[in-house]
Amino acid sequence: MNERPRLTVLSGPSGVGKSTVVVHMRKAHPEVWLSVSATTRKPRPGEQHGVHYFFVTDEEMDKLIANGELLEWAEFAGNRYGTPRAAVLERLERGEPVLLEIDLQGARQVRETMPEAQLVFLAPPSWEELVRRLTGRGTEPPEVIERRLEAAKIELAAEPEFDVTLVNTSVEDVARELLALVDVV
Ligand code: ADP
Ligand code: 5GP
Repeated sequence: MNERPRLTVLSGPSGVGKSTVVVHMRKAHPEVWLSVSATTRKPRPGEQHGVHYFFVTDEEMDKLIANGELLEWAEFAGNRYGTPRAAVLERLERGEPVLLEIDLQGARQVRETMPEAQLVFLAPPSWEELVRRLTGRGTEPPEVIERRLEAAKIELAAEPEFDVTLVNTSVEDVARELLALVDVV
């Protein structure tokens, strides 16, 4: 009998490499389903509606929350983000693995509502390297980077709350480790 958790949450500070690792893993294993979140953040260059996020207005986000359509949601560095509930539950009911890439506040909510979920923390090799990655990505102005680094301090302190920690030194290694945890058959 397979008792392994089917819902996996990947969290970790902004800039640690969550998206990079997930994209790398899904290149080789496109069958790993990743939930597409709703966000009030504006798209970065190259980000597509319905692929990277559902980009919504503040009013649309208010409605999603009020109608109970989100499994969890949080405000992060000035924007709101949430996981559409229906798509996740449909897959879990079919026994298919589900991966969420969400922040610490969201991970805590999932732990409360779905205690069987597996919480994975992606950690940077060092604080200096995290700053380098977040700055080097070049997608945020300095004041947004500052907010994200402030949030990162809180997120790093919460690492012991997670079931597993993966250190993102090598994208290939971490993608392989994550694939094993997601348990795609
Ligand atoms: P997150 O999704 O956690 O915010 P990203 O995936 O956008 O982070 O990665 C932030 C930056 O760090 C990107 O420029 C990415 O190319 C780089 N990066 C990710 N993983 C590594 C790694 N293992 N080594 C070096 N750079 C990395
Ligand atoms: P970014 O703006 O860099 O894409 O994401 C900022 C943070 O929001 C990241 O930590 C990311 O994991 C988190 N995030 C993305 N989608 C969701 C979501 O649906 N819920 C929550 N709680 N956090 C999310």
